Amino acid sequence: MTVPRHVVVVGGSIAALTVVNTLRGEGFEGRVTMLGEEPVPPYTRVPLSKGVLAGRQPPEDTELGAPPADVELCLGVRATGLDPRSRTVRTTRGDMPYDGLVIASGARARRLGVPGHPMSREVVLRSRTDGLHLRDRLSHASSVLVVGGGFLGMEIASTCRGLGKRVTVVDIAPPLDALTGPYVGALVRQAAERAGCRIVVAEGVTLVGAPAPCALVTADGRRFEADVVVTAAGDVPNVEWLAGSGLRVGRGVHVDARCRAAPGIVAVGDVAASSHPGSPAMTRIPTWTNAVEQARIAALALLHGDDAPMYRPSRYGWTEQFGWDLKMAGDPAPAGVPTVLDGDPMTGRALLAWPDARAPRTVMAINHPTPPARLKRLVRAV
Ligand SMILES: Cc1cc2nc3c(=O)[nH]c(=O)nc-3n(C[C@H](O)[C@H](O)[C@H](O)COP(=O)(O)OP(=O)(O)OC[C@H]3O[C@@H](n4cnc5c(N)ncnc54)[C@H](O)[C@@H]3O)c2cc1C
Repeated sequence: MTVPRHVVVVGGSIAALTVVNTLRGEGFEGRVTMLGEEPVPPYTRVPLSKGVLAGRQPPEDTELGAPPADVELCLGVRATGLDPRSRTVRTTRGDMPYDGLVIASGARARRLGVPGHPMSREVVLRSRTDGLHLRDRLSHASSVLVVGGGFLGMEIASTCRGLGKRVTVVDIAPPLDALTGPYVGALVRQAAERAGCRIVVAEGVTLVGAPAPCALVTADGRRFEADVVVTAAGDVPNVEWLAGSGLRVGRGVHVDARCRAAPGIVAVGDVAASSHPGSPAMTRIPTWTNAVEQARIAALALLHGDDAPMYRPSRYGWTEQFGWDLKMAGDPAPAGVPTVLDGDPMTGRALLAWPDARAPRTVMAINHPTPPARLKRLVRAV
């Protein structure tokens, strides 16, 4: 295979930055151009729902550090199209030729929409601007309605309770179960309720109000109102700019075991969908660790083709909420009662394994000092 001379990276966040750093770390001396739609240097989103929203951490602390000095960083530039035949990316600053392309355009917040109000301004939390806007709204609010009880929604709820707001979380399924499984999901929900957070499970949810939603109505007719309504209902991959490119795009850009989408093109992070051992369907894993793991493999695949190692996700993720520092690796949503490797889940400090300690497919550390690397090893050892 031919090593590219000019790699263009579309995306300005952790996946893009990790590809760029890996390329240079591997001794790649060709030209690298990084295009980021946001007009600010790469930053991490992780603290936006935690320390930044709580006001404990200044927004500037989220900066990830600059790419190597010889990388052309083009901020405020959006990729608008792709022609793989002529190896050209169309951008808001004109066409850009490439030999190697990295698709790292990530995802955006899913909006539920307000029937009858197509221009309604739904409050979401994805970007730093969103975080600052929400923080500002909270400073004038005494009640918050969070729509969606995944990691993000529950973190927002936890931070808002910490700020003394009256908080209600509404979801169409018990919050967290689809991520942590029902055993740990129930324990965290109990902690949330003890902290004064109201949790409502309803069959269907419709937002109400404009210009910003101020209430929701459930399918069974219950109405909930709050000073601030935040939607945390998942994310949508940023793939529209690839329309007509011929790449396989479903719920994300389809990639092979080395993150390749087409000759000379890789896709990484929240925008990429791949199959994994035990999960043959093309799925995205929208977590920080996955973005880093894929980015490293993709950079090696651009340089070494089939000689690059295959991507094997650790599926490591974490969340902090309601006094629970939860780290997990392996398959999400484990079923049944875990084997306790250490501690006691009822006291809120434990190391747990599913289905058993001999061949765990999922491990979770709850307020437990086990380092991430050990959690990953425990599930990889199978
Ligand atoms: C508030 C919040 C808290 C989180 N907390 C955690 C956590 O505790 N643990 C965890 O594991 N994960 C967490 N995550 C998820 C984690 O942040 C994401 O998985 C990670 O950001 C994915 O990185 P990425 O680079 O693939 O995509 P993104 O971070 O989405 O970055 C994509 C970048 O590409 C840019 N872009 C998009 N389209 C274009 C285009 N056409 N042209 C040019 N640029 C474009 C975007 O502006 C953006 O800068 C959190 C996410 C949020 C929002």
